[in-house]
Amino acid sequence: MASGKKTKTEENREFNQDWTESFAFICNTYGLLTCLICHEKLAHNEKSNLERHFTTKHAQFTGKYPTGDARKKAAEELQKTTVKLHAK
Ligand SMILES: [Zn+2]
Repeated sequence: MASGKKTKTEENREFNQDWTESFAFICNTYGLLTCLICHEKLAHNEKSNLERHFTTKHAQFTGKYPTGDARKKAAEELQKTTVKLHAK
């Protein structure tokens, strides 16, 4: 496991873990926000960017997994797949 490394710059632009569940985004090893659904990367670590991407492109995700456990599970599953893709 090579995770857990943190630099000062990353701390200034902290990724909010809640965003994974809320907007299906993760922060990849390069500090880029990566959409778990379409794998698009956003350069700016801002909630408004994630929110806009998610609500305009992936509204059906919310329809499928509204909130709570189902949403959390879906986000976790997507995360596993995405992490695997990027580990190659
Ligand atoms: Zn996306």
